Amino acid sequence: MMTEIIKKLINLLGEGKVKFSQEDFEKYGVDWYKEIEPDPTAIVFPKNEDDLKKIVLFAKKENQKLVISGGRTGLCGGATAANKEIVVSLEKMNDMKWLSKKNQVVCQAGAITDNVKIFVAKQDRLLPISLASSSSSSIGGNVATNAAGSKFIRYGSTKEHVARIKVMLANGEILSLKKEIKKDATGPNLMELFFGSEGALGIIYEVTFNTCEQPKYLENILIRTSELDSIRHHILAPEVKTSISSIEYWDENCQKLLGDTPESAYFIIVELSSDSKKEINLCLEILSEKNINIALLNSKQSDEIWSKREDLPVNLASMGAYKMDISLPLENLQSFLKEIKQLSADEIFSFGHLGDGNIHINIVSENNQDKHIDEVYSLLKNYDGSPSAEHGIGQRKKEIWTKFEDYQDKYKLLQTLKKSMDPNNILSPKVFFE
Ligand SMILES: Cc1cc2nc3c(=O)[nH]c(=O)nc-3n(C[C@H](O)[C@H](O)[C@H](O)COP(=O)(O)OP(=O)(O)OC[C@H]3O[C@@H](n4cnc5c(N)ncnc54)[C@H](O)[C@@H]3O)c2cc1C
Repeated sequence: MMTEIIKKLINLLGEGKVKFSQEDFEKYGVDWYKEIEPDPTAIVFPKNEDDLKKIVLFAKKENQKLVISGGRTGLCGGATAANKEIVVSLEKMNDMKWLSKKNQVVCQAGAITDNVKIFVAKQDRLLPISLASSSSSSIGGNVATNAAGSKFIRYGSTKEHVARIKVMLANGEILSLKKEIKKDATGPNLMELFFGSEGALGIIYEVTFNTCEQPKYLENILIRTSELDSIRHHILAPEVKTSISSIEYWDENCQKLLGDTPESAYFIIVELSSDSKKEINLCLEILSEKNINIALLNSKQSDEIWSKREDLPVNLASMGAYKMDISLPLENLQSFLKEIKQLSADEIFSFGHLGDGNIHINIVSENNQDKHIDEVYSLLKNYDGSPSAEHGIGQRKKEIWTKFEDYQDKYKLLQTLKKSMDPNNILSPKVFFE
């Protein structure tokens, strides 16, 4: 329906940059967490900094709220507009350019992650943001959630690669922040404020990434085991770890879900990469001397197994799984997983990044979901874990602030920042806060 606000938005931006059909609301008003019903006022599509500024100043003047939307692959309702907000979709801000002197890529925040990775690969360089959602996620979303994926162990999370960002604040001011030099003591690194800010502190609209060299050699191995600790110990030994770029595991329930007959409690795929073939071979030798049941995979087998790994979160989502994204100290992982198994043998599925202690617990249960969530959180506290390793807080996980006492000071500081940076609560008003 053409409301007064929509007429004003069309007047402000032009007809092509405003959408307001029910179909658009259902497409752009909600992210991957489908439990919150979308109910936006309109969707706007800025093409440049000027458009963004007009939108932000309009929201301030008209007392409207904005929800920032990238690829909408977020799993916590951060990009969902359920309270008549205006959705600001950055999908038309998707340009990129290569800075050959610095081997950097500058991209507008709406660029799709895979498109940027392909663009960088054409320069024979690597942007190591490796998520199962990268064919749809946006660069701005990756920065705003500080996304990390299967290659965290080698390359860290998104923020590790960011050299500069441009951000539009809630009052229309522009910030240009950088950290290009490692040793830089010019006060705190305030660019950090926006990594994981989930749209609540500013609109990230341009990102410059440093890129890495492409490793020359790559091998994948498969390990089946019931003893995670000893395998982890061998793989993460210093002489092997240097060649590891990824270690992913999934449990028996996940193996069955993917149509396999489990031969052991855990299925592990390890990616080794290096500029030296010798180094990779040495790692394989060291591992085989440890009496580990290793299968070296050819490229077809590797592709098949990685594609299964990518199917896992999608399959579990289609079964209505409640997704918990937690991390804990590596030395606590095996005991934690054993206790999880005792909570329920069939209703809890786990998989994740073995190299950095980030595991995805998926609860598929009609009657015991809430009970299992509480049980997992209370185990997590005993094991000194974090309740959100990758996916953030969004609108969905705000109970973390009260359930985990250790995060209450962070919450207070976040409230202070929000009040000073966005006093009228224009940006993503339901993210982090009530
Ligand atoms: C199948 C699947 C697999 C996934 N695997 C991983 C994984 O391995 N690792 C991982 O970390 N995550 C993973 N995710 C979660 C998700 O893909 C990431 O959080 C991703 O970074 C979100 O990007 P997006 O563009 O889709 O953001 P959106 O969902 O659009 O937004 C996410 C949040 O960021 C804010 N935001 C978006 N763009 C901007 C911007 N330009 N400026 C300011 N705020 C902004 C939004 O308001 C929202 O709060 C997965 C999701 C799915 C569905």
